[in-house]
Amino acid sequence: MASPITSEIDFKADGKQTGYLRLPHSVHRSAYGWIPIPLVQIKNGDGPTILLMAGNHGDEYEGQVAVTRLVRELQPEQIRGRVLLLPMANYPAAQAGHRTSPIDGGNLNRSFPGDPNGTITQIIADYIETVLMRMADYAIDLHSGGSSLHYVPTVLYGDREDNSEMEQVLRMMRAFAAPFALHFRRSSEIVSSAAARRQRTIAVTVEMGGSGTVTPTALQVTQQGIERVMAEFGILTESNLPNLGTPGATRILRLTGQHNYLYARHEGLFEPAAEIGEDIEEGQVAGWIHHPETPWEAPDEKFFPISGTLLCKRIPGRVQRGDCLYQIGQDDTTE
Ligand SMILES: [Zn+2]
Repeated sequence: MASPITSEIDFKADGKQTGYLRLPHSVHRSAYGWIPIPLVQIKNGDGPTILLMAGNHGDEYEGQVAVTRLVRELQPEQIRGRVLLLPMANYPAAQAGHRTSPIDGGNLNRSFPGDPNGTITQIIADYIETVLMRMADYAIDLHSGGSSLHYVPTVLYGDREDNSEMEQVLRMMRAFAAPFALHFRRSSEIVSSAAARRQRTIAVTVEMGGSGTVTPTALQVTQQGIERVMAEFGILTESNLPNLGTPGATRILRLTGQHNYLYARHEGLFEPAAEIGEDIEEGQVAGWIHHPETPWEAPDEKFFPISGTLLCKRIPGRVQRGDCLYQIGQDDTTE
């Protein structure tokens, strides 16, 4: 079955077009209504297509700001080919400022390949994979730590079976030039990078910051990374940015198992003892979970299970058993 989503954008037409993907949604306040997912296409003749998507998780704002700025700043004469800009991919979640959709609880980045007959979130996932990703030669899915985590700017990329695809993915990762990259062997089938892999779209996912806000530094890395990728693949022919900056070296890390994550084992108040981007040693104190309700009890002292580099840490102070406190990357020795 075809997607119930219809596009106000004519994908074949040149120029800058703004409009909505209309997702029919019949509810109490609006019997014949639709969910308006904003989409902008900037096209200038033949050439490659890049999909820039943000708001896959609604509480991750760096990408939403960067893509929104690009919609206004980028002009057709600056590009060759086509740029598809999707600033609020999971629109209901992005509108609510939540990770997941308030309509169906759906986590878009756990919903691929989606289902045109499924829930609202599954319908969006299906459309992104079978229409937008299928049209795109290149894609960047812009994430961050959201409300509960903060990341050092990191490009995530996964292995491809096809060597030439893998070379292009590596080229994209290097062009984005974030301070860190995280190399996955093979991503889970339900995330956007698997959708890209199935559609043979050259793609990376980026984690740009978080804490439920944006910072000038994270935004700069995001905007410059996007522009460098578009320039690298010949889509951006002329830049508005005064200075794209000289890309620094990217340190490539990997995850090998559950020991790359440190979790809370008790409820309480988390006091971190380390900062993101820091190199830490196995056995080093990671922090404490205090019990202010019973302040006479000793805190739960946490230790890092492996040596590595801290890619993200938890932001809210209150924690429950099972909450992620840190993600620890280890140097990738395969390259
Ligand atoms: Zn995310």
